[in-house]
Amino acid sequence: MSGSEILESVVPRSIIIGKSTIRRIPDVIQSLGLKQKVMVLTGPSTRHVVGEEIFEVVTNQEMDCEVIIIENSSLEAANSYVDLVQRYKPNIIISAGGGKNIDVGKFCLTKLTNNTEMISVPTATPHDGIASPFIFLDNPTEEFIGESRPPIAVIADVEKILNHPDIVRYIQAGVGDTVGKITAIWDWQYAWRIKSEKYSRFVGGVLENADTLFQSQVSEALINPEHAVQIVLKALLIAGVLMGTSNDIRVGYGSEHMFSAALHTETPEADILHGERIALGTIMMAKLQGQNEQILSILRKVGCPTKISELNDDIPPEAIIRALQKAHKMNSMYTVLGRTGLTEKAASRIAQMSGVINPS
Ligand SMILES: [Zn+2]
Repeated sequence: MSGSEILESVVPRSIIIGKSTIRRIPDVIQSLGLKQKVMVLTGPSTRHVVGEEIFEVVTNQEMDCEVIIIENSSLEAANSYVDLVQRYKPNIIISAGGGKNIDVGKFCLTKLTNNTEMISVPTATPHDGIASPFIFLDNPTEEFIGESRPPIAVIADVEKILNHPDIVRYIQAGVGDTVGKITAIWDWQYAWRIKSEKYSRFVGGVLENADTLFQSQVSEALINPEHAVQIVLKALLIAGVLMGTSNDIRVGYGSEHMFSAALHTETPEADILHGERIALGTIMMAKLQGQNEQILSILRKVGCPTKISELNDDIPPEAIIRALQKAHKMNSMYTVLGRTGLTEKAASRIAQMSGVINPS
Protein backbone atom coordinates (compact mmCIF):
# COMPACT_ATOMS: atom_id res chain seq x y z
CA MET A 1 0.00 0.00 0.00
CA SER A 2 1.45 3.38 -0.94
CA GLY A 3 1.46 6.32 1.51
CA SER A 4 -1.49 8.08 -0.14
CA GLU A 5 -3.83 5.09 -0.05
CA ILE A 6 -6.29 4.63 2.76
CA LEU A 7 -7.26 1.19 3.97
CA GLU A 8 -10.55 1.27 5.75
CA SER A 9 -11.32 -1.83 7.80
CA VAL A 10 -14.66 -2.43 9.42
CA VAL A 11 -14.75 -5.52 11.61
CA PRO A 12 -16.98 -6.87 14.39
CA ARG A 13 -16.34 -5.26 17.75
CA SER A 14 -17.30 -8.21 19.87
CA ILE A 15 -17.09 -11.96 19.21
CA ILE A 16 -18.43 -14.29 21.89
CA ILE A 17 -18.24 -18.07 21.46
CA GLY A 18 -19.23 -20.37 24.30
CA LYS A 19 -22.08 -21.91 26.25
CA SER A 20 -25.24 -20.03 27.29
CA THR A 21 -24.10 -16.93 25.41
CA ILE A 22 -27.63 -15.82 24.39
CA ARG A 23 -28.15 -14.22 27.79
CA ARG A 24 -25.15 -11.96 27.11
CA ILE A 25 -27.05 -10.23 24.27
CA PRO A 26 -28.65 -7.46 26.41
CA ASP A 27 -25.19 -6.55 27.82
CA VAL A 28 -23.74 -6.34 24.31
CA ILE A 29 -26.66 -4.14 23.20
CA GLN A 30 -26.23 -1.87 26.23
CA SER A 31 -22.51 -1.54 25.58
CA LEU A 32 -23.27 -0.22 22.09
CA GLY A 33 -25.02 2.75 23.64
CA LEU A 34 -27.82 2.66 21.06
CA LYS A 35 -31.52 3.17 21.60
CA GLN A 36 -32.77 -0.25 22.55
CA LYS A 37 -35.20 -1.03 19.79
CA VAL A 38 -34.51 -4.53 18.54
CA MET A 39 -35.73 -6.55 15.57
CA VAL A 40 -34.99 -10.27 15.49
CA LEU A 41 -34.76 -12.00 12.09
CA THR A 42 -35.01 -15.74 12.52
CA GLY A 43 -36.10 -18.82 10.55
CA PRO A 44 -39.22 -21.01 10.85
CA SER A 45 -37.30 -23.68 12.80
CA THR A 46 -34.49 -21.61 14.31
CA ARG A 47 -37.09 -19.41 16.03
CA HIS A 48 -37.59 -22.34 18.44
CA VAL A 49 -33.82 -22.79 18.86
CA VAL A 50 -32.81 -19.18 19.52
CA GLY A 51 -35.38 -16.68 18.19
CA GLU A 52 -37.86 -16.99 21.05
CA GLU A 53 -35.14 -17.07 23.70
CA ILE A 54 -33.58 -13.89 22.31
CA PHE A 55 -37.01 -12.20 22.37
CA GLU A 56 -37.35 -13.25 26.01
CA VAL A 57 -33.92 -12.08 27.22
CA VAL A 58 -34.25 -8.78 25.39
CA THR A 59 -37.81 -7.95 26.53
CA ASN A 60 -36.93 -9.02 30.10
CA GLN A 61 -34.54 -6.07 30.06
CA GLU A 62 -37.41 -3.77 29.01
CA MET A 63 -36.12 -3.38 25.47
CA ASP A 64 -38.60 -3.07 22.61
CA CYS A 65 -38.47 -6.09 20.34
CA GLU A 66 -40.21 -7.47 17.26
CA VAL A 67 -39.58 -10.73 15.45
CA ILE A 68 -39.72 -11.48 11.70
CA ILE A 69 -39.66 -15.05 10.40
CA ILE A 70 -37.44 -15.31 7.33
CA GLU A 71 -38.92 -17.96 5.04
CA ASN A 72 -36.91 -17.25 1.94
CA SER A 73 -33.81 -15.36 0.90
CA SER A 74 -34.65 -14.48 -2.70
CA LEU A 75 -34.05 -10.84 -3.64
CA GLU A 76 -37.80 -10.32 -3.90
CA ALA A 77 -38.44 -11.77 -0.42
CA ALA A 78 -35.50 -9.83 1.04
CA ASN A 79 -37.03 -6.59 -0.29
CA SER A 80 -40.33 -7.42 1.40
CA TYR A 81 -38.49 -7.92 4.73
CA VAL A 82 -36.79 -4.56 4.16
CA ASP A 83 -40.28 -2.96 4.08
CA LEU A 84 -41.12 -4.50 7.47
CA VAL A 85 -37.79 -3.44 8.95
CA GLN A 86 -38.12 0.11 7.60
CA ARG A 87 -41.56 0.45 9.16
CA TYR A 88 -40.32 -0.64 12.59
CA LYS A 89 -37.02 1.31 12.39
CA PRO A 90 -34.95 -0.79 14.78
CA ASN A 91 -31.58 0.32 16.12
CA ILE A 92 -30.40 -3.24 16.33
CA ILE A 93 -31.11 -6.14 13.99
CA ILE A 94 -30.36 -9.55 15.45
CA SER A 95 -30.01 -12.18 12.71
CA ALA A 96 -30.44 -15.49 14.46
CA GLY A 97 -30.20 -18.82 12.71
CA GLY A 98 -28.59 -20.11 9.53
CA GLY A 99 -26.76 -18.23 6.81
CA LYS A 100 -30.00 -17.13 5.10
CA ASN A 101 -31.13 -15.01 8.08
CA ILE A 102 -27.69 -13.45 8.36
CA ASP A 103 -27.55 -12.48 4.68
CA VAL A 104 -31.08 -11.02 4.79
CA GLY A 105 -30.10 -9.07 7.94
CA LYS A 106 -27.08 -7.57 6.17
CA PHE A 107 -29.23 -6.74 3.14
CA CYS A 108 -31.73 -4.88 5.38
CA LEU A 109 -28.83 -2.99 6.96
CA THR A 110 -27.85 -1.56 3.57
CA LYS A 111 -31.38 -0.18 3.08
CA LEU A 112 -31.72 1.58 6.42
CA THR A 113 -30.73 5.20 6.71
CA ASN A 114 -30.34 5.35 10.50
CA ASN A 115 -27.31 3.98 12.29
CA THR A 116 -28.70 0.51 12.79
CA GLU A 117 -26.21 -2.17 13.80
CA MET A 118 -26.46 -5.91 13.38
CA ILE A 119 -25.68 -8.77 15.73
CA SER A 120 -25.26 -12.20 14.20
CA VAL A 121 -26.25 -15.27 16.22
CA PRO A 122 -25.43 -18.37 14.14
CA THR A 123 -27.13 -21.66 15.03
CA ALA A 124 -24.95 -23.72 12.73
CA THR A 125 -21.60 -23.43 10.99
CA PRO A 126 -23.00 -22.48 7.60
CA HIS A 127 -20.36 -20.20 6.05
CA ASP A 128 -18.03 -17.29 6.66
CA GLY A 129 -20.85 -14.75 6.16
CA ILE A 130 -21.46 -14.89 9.92
CA ALA A 131 -18.80 -12.18 10.38
CA SER A 132 -18.10 -10.74 6.91
CA PRO A 133 -19.59 -7.64 5.29
CA PHE A 134 -20.52 -9.47 2.07
CA ILE A 135 -24.09 -10.38 1.12
CA PHE A 136 -25.27 -13.36 -0.94
CA LEU A 137 -28.94 -13.86 -1.72
CA ASP A 138 -30.77 -16.54 -3.66
CA ASN A 139 -31.44 -14.35 -6.64
CA PRO A 140 -32.88 -16.89 -7.66
CA THR A 141 -29.65 -18.75 -7.00
CA GLU A 142 -26.75 -17.91 -4.72
CA GLU A 143 -25.49 -14.59 -5.98
CA PHE A 144 -23.19 -11.89 -4.65
CA ILE A 145 -25.32 -8.81 -3.99
CA GLY A 146 -22.93 -6.34 -2.39
CA GLU A 147 -21.69 -5.40 1.02
CA SER A 148 -22.88 -3.85 4.24
CA ARG A 149 -21.13 -3.02 7.45
CA PRO A 150 -20.22 -6.37 9.02
CA PRO A 151 -22.12 -7.45 12.14
CA ILE A 152 -20.99 -5.36 15.12
CA ALA A 153 -21.10 -8.50 17.24
CA VAL A 154 -21.13 -12.24 16.66
CA ILE A 155 -22.58 -14.27 19.49
CA ALA A 156 -22.37 -18.03 19.01
CA ASP A 157 -23.88 -20.43 21.51
CA VAL A 158 -21.96 -23.68 21.09
CA GLU A 159 -24.65 -25.70 22.91
CA LYS A 160 -27.32 -24.55 20.46
CA ILE A 161 -25.08 -25.36 17.52
CA LEU A 162 -24.32 -28.82 18.97
CA ASN A 163 -28.05 -29.48 19.30
CA HIS A 164 -28.59 -28.84 15.60
CA PRO A 165 -30.20 -32.01 14.19
CA ASP A 166 -27.70 -32.10 11.33
CA ILE A 167 -24.68 -31.04 13.34
CA VAL A 168 -22.14 -33.42 11.73
CA ARG A 169 -23.23 -32.45 8.23
CA TYR A 170 -22.94 -28.76 9.09
CA ILE A 171 -19.47 -29.19 10.58
CA GLN A 172 -18.40 -31.02 7.41
CA ALA A 173 -19.87 -28.24 5.26
CA GLY A 174 -18.11 -25.63 7.41
CA VAL A 175 -14.85 -27.46 6.69
CA GLY A 176 -15.80 -27.39 2.97
CA ASP A 177 -16.20 -23.59 3.02
CA THR A 178 -12.94 -23.24 4.96
CA VAL A 179 -10.80 -25.30 2.55
CA GLY A 180 -12.24 -23.14 -0.23
CA LYS A 181 -9.96 -20.35 1.03
CA ILE A 182 -6.96 -22.30 -0.29
CA THR A 183 -8.13 -22.07 -3.90
CA ALA A 184 -9.49 -18.53 -3.39
CA ILE A 185 -6.06 -17.29 -2.27
CA TRP A 186 -4.39 -19.06 -5.18
CA ASP A 187 -6.81 -17.23 -7.55
CA TRP A 188 -6.14 -13.92 -5.78
CA GLN A 189 -2.37 -14.31 -6.15
CA TYR A 190 -2.82 -15.41 -9.77
CA ALA A 191 -4.87 -12.28 -10.59
CA TRP A 192 -2.15 -10.23 -8.92
CA ARG A 193 0.53 -11.83 -11.11
CA ILE A 194 -1.44 -11.86 -14.37
CA LYS A 195 -3.62 -8.74 -14.04
CA SER A 196 -1.76 -6.67 -11.41
CA GLU A 197 -4.80 -6.80 -9.16
CA LYS A 198 -4.39 -5.41 -5.69
CA TYR A 199 -3.29 -8.18 -3.32
CA SER A 200 -2.69 -7.94 0.40
CA ARG A 201 0.35 -10.01 1.36
CA PHE A 202 -0.53 -9.48 5.01
CA VAL A 203 -4.10 -10.76 4.72
CA GLY A 204 -3.07 -13.56 2.34
CA GLY A 205 -0.29 -14.60 4.73
CA VAL A 206 -2.53 -14.57 7.82
CA LEU A 207 -5.13 -16.62 6.02
CA GLU A 208 -2.58 -19.17 4.79
CA ASN A 209 -1.27 -19.60 8.33
CA ALA A 210 -4.78 -19.87 9.75
CA ASP A 211 -5.56 -22.52 7.15
CA THR A 212 -2.48 -24.57 8.02
CA LEU A 213 -3.43 -24.44 11.70
CA PHE A 214 -7.00 -25.37 10.86
CA GLN A 215 -5.89 -28.36 8.80
CA SER A 216 -3.72 -29.69 11.60
CA GLN A 217 -6.49 -29.36 14.17
CA VAL A 218 -9.62 -30.34 12.32
CA SER A 219 -9.25 -34.10 11.87
CA GLU A 220 -8.50 -34.80 15.55
CA ALA A 221 -11.29 -32.42 16.50
CA LEU A 222 -13.98 -34.52 14.88
CA ILE A 223 -13.64 -37.06 17.69
CA ASN A 224 -15.14 -34.37 19.89
CA PRO A 225 -17.99 -32.45 18.19
CA GLU A 226 -17.80 -29.60 20.71
CA HIS A 227 -14.15 -29.04 19.91
CA ALA A 228 -14.93 -29.37 16.17
CA VAL A 229 -17.65 -26.70 16.35
CA GLN A 230 -15.24 -24.31 18.09
CA ILE A 231 -12.50 -24.88 15.49
CA VAL A 232 -14.81 -24.55 12.47
CA LEU A 233 -16.50 -21.47 13.95
CA LYS A 234 -13.16 -19.80 14.61
CA ALA A 235 -11.94 -20.57 11.10
CA LEU A 236 -15.12 -19.10 9.57
CA LEU A 237 -14.93 -16.06 11.85
CA ILE A 238 -11.27 -15.41 11.03
CA ALA A 239 -12.08 -15.53 7.31
CA GLY A 240 -15.09 -13.24 7.77
CA VAL A 241 -13.09 -10.74 9.81
CA LEU A 242 -10.22 -10.79 7.29
CA MET A 243 -12.73 -9.99 4.54
CA GLY A 244 -13.73 -6.91 6.54
CA THR A 245 -10.08 -6.06 7.29
CA SER A 246 -9.02 -6.09 3.66
CA ASN A 247 -12.44 -5.07 2.39
CA ASP A 248 -11.82 -7.58 -0.36
CA ILE A 249 -14.12 -10.46 -1.15
CA ARG A 250 -11.17 -12.32 -2.70
CA VAL A 251 -10.16 -13.45 0.80
CA GLY A 252 -12.87 -16.05 0.74
CA TYR A 253 -14.23 -16.10 -2.78
CA GLY A 254 -12.59 -17.53 -5.86
CA SER A 255 -13.23 -20.00 -8.67
CA GLU A 256 -14.55 -22.60 -6.16
CA HIS A 257 -17.36 -20.19 -5.16
CA MET A 258 -18.04 -19.37 -8.81
CA PHE A 259 -18.42 -23.11 -9.49
CA SER A 260 -20.73 -23.37 -6.48
CA ALA A 261 -22.94 -20.56 -7.80
CA ALA A 262 -23.01 -22.23 -11.24
CA LEU A 263 -23.93 -25.61 -9.74
CA HIS A 264 -26.71 -23.91 -7.78
CA THR A 265 -28.21 -22.67 -11.07
CA GLU A 266 -28.13 -26.25 -12.37
CA THR A 267 -29.69 -27.77 -9.24
CA PRO A 268 -31.66 -25.01 -7.50
CA GLU A 269 -33.97 -27.37 -5.62
CA ALA A 270 -31.39 -29.95 -4.50
CA ASP A 271 -30.71 -30.28 -0.79
CA ILE A 272 -27.05 -29.27 -0.87
CA LEU A 273 -25.39 -26.96 1.65
CA HIS A 274 -23.21 -24.05 0.53
CA GLY A 275 -20.08 -25.62 2.07
CA GLU A 276 -20.79 -28.95 0.34
CA ARG A 277 -20.86 -27.30 -3.07
CA ILE A 278 -17.71 -25.37 -2.19
CA ALA A 279 -15.97 -28.62 -1.21
CA LEU A 280 -16.59 -30.10 -4.68
CA GLY A 281 -15.57 -26.84 -6.35
CA THR A 282 -12.39 -26.65 -4.29
CA ILE A 283 -11.33 -30.20 -5.19
CA MET A 284 -11.67 -29.45 -8.92
CA MET A 285 -10.20 -25.93 -8.87
CA ALA A 286 -7.23 -27.17 -6.82
CA LYS A 287 -6.65 -29.78 -9.54
CA LEU A 288 -6.81 -27.08 -12.24
CA GLN A 289 -4.42 -24.93 -10.21
CA GLY A 290 -1.97 -27.83 -9.93
CA GLN A 291 -2.24 -27.98 -6.14
CA ASN A 292 -1.56 -31.24 -4.29
CA GLU A 293 -4.11 -33.70 -2.94
CA GLN A 294 -4.09 -32.26 0.58
CA ILE A 295 -7.52 -30.68 0.23
CA LEU A 296 -9.04 -34.00 -0.81
CA SER A 297 -7.49 -35.80 2.14
CA ILE A 298 -8.78 -33.22 4.67
CA LEU A 299 -12.30 -33.46 3.25
CA ARG A 300 -12.16 -37.27 3.30
CA LYS A 301 -10.88 -37.30 6.88
CA VAL A 302 -13.81 -35.23 8.11
CA GLY A 303 -16.30 -37.16 5.98
CA CYS A 304 -17.35 -34.27 3.74
CA PRO A 305 -18.66 -35.62 0.39
CA THR A 306 -15.99 -35.49 -2.32
CA LYS A 307 -18.09 -37.06 -5.10
CA ILE A 308 -21.39 -35.84 -6.46
CA SER A 309 -22.85 -39.36 -5.98
CA GLU A 310 -22.07 -39.18 -2.22
CA LEU A 311 -23.83 -35.85 -2.01
CA ASN A 312 -26.93 -36.42 -4.06
CA ASP A 313 -27.89 -39.42 -6.18
CA ASP A 314 -30.22 -37.44 -8.42
CA ILE A 315 -27.65 -35.06 -9.85
CA PRO A 316 -26.29 -36.28 -13.18
CA PRO A 317 -22.57 -35.88 -13.97
CA GLU A 318 -23.59 -33.59 -16.86
CA ALA A 319 -24.77 -30.98 -14.32
CA ILE A 320 -21.24 -30.84 -12.89
CA ILE A 321 -19.73 -30.50 -16.38
CA ARG A 322 -22.18 -27.74 -17.35
CA ALA A 323 -21.54 -25.89 -14.08
CA LEU A 324 -17.78 -26.07 -14.70
CA GLN A 325 -18.27 -24.62 -18.19
CA LYS A 326 -20.23 -21.62 -16.98
CA ALA A 327 -18.48 -20.99 -13.65
CA HIS A 328 -16.29 -18.19 -15.11
CA LYS A 329 -19.44 -16.17 -15.89
CA MET A 330 -20.62 -16.09 -12.28
CA ASN A 331 -18.35 -13.19 -11.32
CA SER A 332 -16.16 -10.80 -13.24
CA MET A 333 -13.09 -11.59 -11.13
CA TYR A 334 -10.09 -13.16 -12.83
CA THR A 335 -9.37 -16.71 -11.67
CA VAL A 336 -7.79 -19.93 -12.86
CA LEU A 337 -10.86 -20.27 -15.13
CA GLY A 338 -9.67 -17.31 -17.19
CA ARG A 339 -12.06 -15.18 -19.22
CA THR A 340 -13.43 -17.90 -21.47
CA GLY A 341 -13.76 -20.79 -19.03
CA LEU A 342 -13.40 -24.50 -19.68
CA THR A 343 -14.35 -26.40 -22.82
CA GLU A 344 -16.73 -29.33 -22.38
CA LYS A 345 -13.89 -31.79 -22.85
CA ALA A 346 -11.65 -30.04 -20.30
CA ALA A 347 -14.54 -29.77 -17.82
CA SER A 348 -15.34 -33.45 -18.17
CA ARG A 349 -11.67 -34.39 -17.76
CA ILE A 350 -11.12 -32.28 -14.62
CA ALA A 351 -14.34 -33.58 -13.01
CA GLN A 352 -13.26 -37.18 -13.66
CA MET A 353 -9.59 -36.71 -12.74
CA SER A 354 -10.53 -35.19 -9.43
CA GLY A 355 -13.01 -38.00 -8.73
CA VAL A 356 -16.04 -35.70 -8.41
CA ILE A 357 -17.77 -37.71 -11.15
CA ASN A 358 -17.08 -41.32 -12.13
CA PRO A 359 -14.95 -42.02 -15.23
CA SER A 360 -17.14 -42.43 -18.32
ZN1 LIG B 1 -18.45 -19.50 1.18
